[in-house]
Amino acid sequence: MARAAFVWTSDGALRASPIPEGGARIGRGAEVEIRVDAQTVSRVQASVGLEGDHFVIENVSTTNPTKLNGVVVERRVPLSDGDEVQAGSLALIFHDLAAADRLSGPMCSHCSRENLATDTDCWYCGTSLVNAPTTILQRREVACRLVSAMGEHHDLLTDESLTVDDGGAPMVVRAGTDLPAGQPAIQVRNMEPRLVEAGDTLRVNGESASADQRLATGDRVDMGKASLLVIARVDPSA
Ligand SMILES: [Zn+2]
Repeated sequence: MARAAFVWTSDGALRASPIPEGGARIGRGAEVEIRVDAQTVSRVQASVGLEGDHFVIENVSTTNPTKLNGVVVERRVPLSDGDEVQAGSLALIFHDLAAADRLSGPMCSHCSRENLATDTDCWYCGTSLVNAPTTILQRREVACRLVSAMGEHHDLLTDESLTVDDGGAPMVVRAGTDLPAGQPAIQVRNMEPRLVEAGDTLRVNGESASADQRLATGDRVDMGKASLLVIARVDPSA
């Protein structure tokens, strides 16, 4: 399990590295766990790890300051989802999937499907949820985040999917809803993001892909007009 990752741009392409909860060092040296290819970064630049419920970062370099959202890191400081860590000319975006976990909400009185705590009308059938019997709120973990080069992202819970609409733009499809036939899609099953309906228009890391292929953190998926970088909470390699 790696609920967090750093994303950065190198040679014009997005890269991602999972952040082990046990901690990791960031730098350009061979000895670090999160290795970045940037000459302006120290061999060992900073260290990061989980402390209690949140990740913290600490500067390690004696010659090169580490900054968090533009402020020099003087001591150990907490990281929040979306924060930017800077060193030299490098900018790393911190992603914490746990920050996007959602609470399940009321069961629809009309179609009996579970909605999210923030829904006011049933997402599936449109029935108002105002008088719906409230169910026990349960935490639903984000299993996968898909990041675009523009910095937008889509979070998927288990059984949710991401496909592209007729205009080629990414579109999230909730659990229990049919996917558009024949369209490429990524679907999360048992916390694992996989391809469904790969087809000719879908490529993973620049190569043609097969249906049911499992995705890992750092994979780049091209479908429709979207180019998306994968952050998976459960990594095949872990
Ligand atoms: Zn409904």
